[in-house]
Amino acid sequence: KLQADESDERSALLRLSAALDELDEGSVIVDESGGEVFRNSRGAQFVGARHGDAIVEDAMRELLVLAAGGETIEREIHLFGPPRQVLRLRATPLEAGAVVFISDVSHARHVEELRRDFVANVSHELRTPVGALELLAETIEGEPDIQVVRDLVARMGTEAHRLGRIVEDLLDLSAIEAEAEPVREVASLGEMMAAATNLVRDAAGDAGVSLVAVPPVDDVTLWCDRGRMVSAFRNLLDNAVKYSEPPGAVRFGARTEGDRVVVWVSDEGIGIPARDLERVFERFYRVDRARSRVTGGTGLGLSIVRHVTEGHGGSVRVESTEGEGSTFYLEFPVHSGVVVAIEEPS
Ligand code: ADP
Repeated sequence: KLQADESDERSALLRLSAALDELDEGSVIVDESGGEVFRNSRGAQFVGARHGDAIVEDAMRELLVLAAGGETIEREIHLFGPPRQVLRLRATPLEAGAVVFISDVSHARHVEELRRDFVANVSHELRTPVGALELLAETIEGEPDIQVVRDLVARMGTEAHRLGRIVEDLLDLSAIEAEAEPVREVASLGEMMAAATNLVRDAAGDAGVSLVAVPPVDDVTLWCDRGRMVSAFRNLLDNAVKYSEPPGAVRFGARTEGDRVVVWVSDEGIGIPARDLERVFERFYRVDRARSRVTGGTGLGLSIVRHVTEGHGGSVRVESTEGEGSTFYLEFPVHSGVVVAIEEPS
């Protein structure tokens, strides 16, 4: 009878420790005199080879002593690595002894950091037009000259429009990111390119820039959210026009590469300095803030383009020479069809 109990207990313990080994958290159990009685496999990984392990082990010991004294206690440890790591330790008293759990919260912390940065950036971006509006309103209050008032009101309109665009772009971005079940339909690439071209034709005309669209003759189709796709193309075309000087040309075309299609937009505009090339797809990143302000940019256009493209299994790329122009490439998987018309950016 006694033997049976013992073996029951043994197998229960084995099951328990096997279960603890499956945890993502490390756990270490000590008895009332502080002697280690158990450590799961994750717990074992927090000691040994890496730099910073001594810090973790020391903190663990310290917390276990405090917990054995009856206290539940939590602590965060920042290891500056590399890799940088944030570990969370939580120690709790047990009937005879204590247990400490260790988890790696680096990813969660990183996400929080990104979110904080984002909120800070958004606030900063909104502050500029809001500040301008305040100033303009104040100036108008004491302004007797009706013509000056009219000018100031027009400038208020521009700033309000800017604010509106930033908010629209932010809403677009968050809608794209939050999409659990994206809209997908079969859409003709040529038709989407034509739609985007039509949307920027007037702006190109006003800017004295010629717009040469080369839609594919034998069309391919994409499995996509048509609206978002057109808006991504439009964003690239808008930029190409905005960052061109008359009488520059903007060219827009597509070619297949195996079962992928590459859509490209090239301009003969101001180009992008090599050091900024990697960063232009980041939110709010602008090479030249002053120019972006004049052209009414939000700094969000290219990050929307990248999000849309990646959301469709594609990728974005840019080649540019300062003073000569830029070519943006979007690459997508083809749903069906072949592109025949091939126009290379010059
Ligand atoms: P913006 O609203 O400022 O145009 P985007 O996200 O669309 O924001 O672009 C980010 C930055 O990349 C721009 O501010 C500009 O400096 C640069 N950029 C984008 N497209 C071009 C282009 N075709 N030629 C030169 N610079 C460009």
